[in-house]
Amino acid sequence: MCQACDSFLDRLFAKGVLHETGVDGLYGRGQAFEAVIEGMDRLITRTAANDHAEVIRFPPGMNRALFEKSGYMKNFPQLAGTVHSFAGSERDHLALLDNIHNGGDWTGGQGATDIVLTPAACYPLYPIVARRGPLAPEGGLFDIQSYCFRHEPSKDPARMQMFRMREFVRIGLPEQAASFRESWLERARDFAETLQLPHHIDVANDPFFGRAGRMMASSQREQALKFELLVPIESTENPTACQSFNYHQDHFGELWGITTASGETAHTACVGFGMERLALALFKHHGIDTNGWPNSVRAALSL
Ligand code: ATP
Ligand code: ZN
Ligand code: MG
Repeated sequence: MCQACDSFLDRLFAKGVLHETGVDGLYGRGQAFEAVIEGMDRLITRTAANDHAEVIRFPPGMNRALFEKSGYMKNFPQLAGTVHSFAGSERDHLALLDNIHNGGDWTGGQGATDIVLTPAACYPLYPIVARRGPLAPEGGLFDIQSYCFRHEPSKDPARMQMFRMREFVRIGLPEQAASFRESWLERARDFAETLQLPHHIDVANDPFFGRAGRMMASSQREQALKFELLVPIESTENPTACQSFNYHQDHFGELWGITTASGETAHTACVGFGMERLALALFKHHGIDTNGWPNSVRAALSL
């Protein structure tokens, strides 16, 4: 096979940047890849250092009951992943092993647990904030991170099924949420320039399910509730969203009963960094070998 015929993903595998698992969108990460992710994490932390956000890190699963209340299954049932487990008898166990042995479906007897896979880093945050009672007058600001799951298998290395999302979430008055999002749109341009990534910012929508979903998507666009920082990775015509900037208005405030100091329903906004996508954008534009990356990029990532 000629070098030029290899896809970007093939080259990442060949150099051990990512490791194949046999499932599209599910990869092991090599040392160079993780060094880039860690460098970016530090760069993001430095960028936000003066904001004094409260740091919370989540495991890749969240409380199923809270997930149900979040409305995720109404909007994005096609992407959700649930955690099931065996809870049967010895006889059930034997039947299960038989099924595995014979190549049958052994998963039918698995029962839902209290955990589902986290679809976006901010989903487990809102109920935690709601439980604390009304916000302080300055509102809340959170620095969160989670492995996320989305069932969207693809050969595009930038569309993974399990990936890390670092987010900053602002909760408070409408103007606090709006100015937070504005300032991060500004910072995103600096961030992409520091990393020497070709980029542009554009309005976007979420992939709401079904016919009603198409209307929600177009209304989200019309109101400019979602922006993305786009970087060409697999294609120039369809650049990849590496960061998103979302204003939820009072949707989550209302849903979870989060109130401001003066008793109004809180507004929320979040900024999400797709850590794997940003790393892949760097490998795409600066080369598979990080030793050859521009000095200023290496310095920014402390490589
Ligand atoms: P896309 O339109 O490409 O599906 P998205 O709108 O679903 O992206 P968000 O829901 O805004 O993305 O998620 C926040 C960030 O998480 C995105 O900007 C992106 O960088 C990252 N992300 C989303 N889906 C994936 C994925 N399948 N693999 C890797 N990173 C992802
Ligand atoms: Zn979010
Ligand atoms: Mg998506």
